[in-house]
Amino acid sequence: MTGFRPRHLSVSAVALYVTCPAQYRRRYVEKLVTPINPAMFFGSTFHAALEAEHRGQDSEAVLMTEWNKRQAMLDAANLGVMPSKTHALALLDEYKARGLGGKLGVPERKFVRRLPMANVPVPVLGYVDLSIPERRRFREFKTTSGSSWTREKAQAERQLHVYGWDYSQTYHHRAECAEYVIFSTVAPTVEVLEVVPSPDGLRAFETEVEAVWAGIVKGEYPPCGECEMCKPPAERPTNGPTVTWND
Ligand SMILES: [Zn+2]
Repeated sequence: MTGFRPRHLSVSAVALYVTCPAQYRRRYVEKLVTPINPAMFFGSTFHAALEAEHRGQDSEAVLMTEWNKRQAMLDAANLGVMPSKTHALALLDEYKARGLGGKLGVPERKFVRRLPMANVPVPVLGYVDLSIPERRRFREFKTTSGSSWTREKAQAERQLHVYGWDYSQTYHHRAECAEYVIFSTVAPTVEVLEVVPSPDGLRAFETEVEAVWAGIVKGEYPPCGECEMCKPPAERPTNGPTVTWND
């Protein structure tokens, strides 16, 4: 366990360490793979369809193929699929009806880049869902079953500021905004939240990265005490206090 050093850090890896170092250890140090779950299933399948859409391919056909491929994995694990394939198609239709689809930009662009200020020896790794330099912006896709995504939440995302910084380094102009596109898994609705990357947001991330790196170097992975993994097992029901007669 000691001596572990990642070759790079992603925004989500840093966020995971900040939330729960013990979970970070499980995922990145011990490399325990999270078994496929229905929410991941939907997110990754839908992402594949959107990537195809912006590459100018038949996104419906890709959605079907990817869906069926992954469905077999879920079936093998005896997990149901929620939401349905019909729902996924409705979301894709709505996305196109809103004029958001079509061949556009650069989907799934990977970057590996050293942070400008943070004193850490490894670069940050990221995948930008859709870079659209011709419109001076980029897009991130999120699927959610709740209503937690607001403009404020998107504006506070570390990812926004880190990806915005990478965008400006890659395209030599500032991203005027980023579009967080929120797909609901409970209703066929697509919401676009326009937010703006800022240098302050990047600085905040750099501060976090330095703290996370220091923790990794020291081999510190304490349980957060609050997540499902760290919570103590539910206490057994008792039949009242145990009384011991010693005297
Ligand atoms: Zn935890």
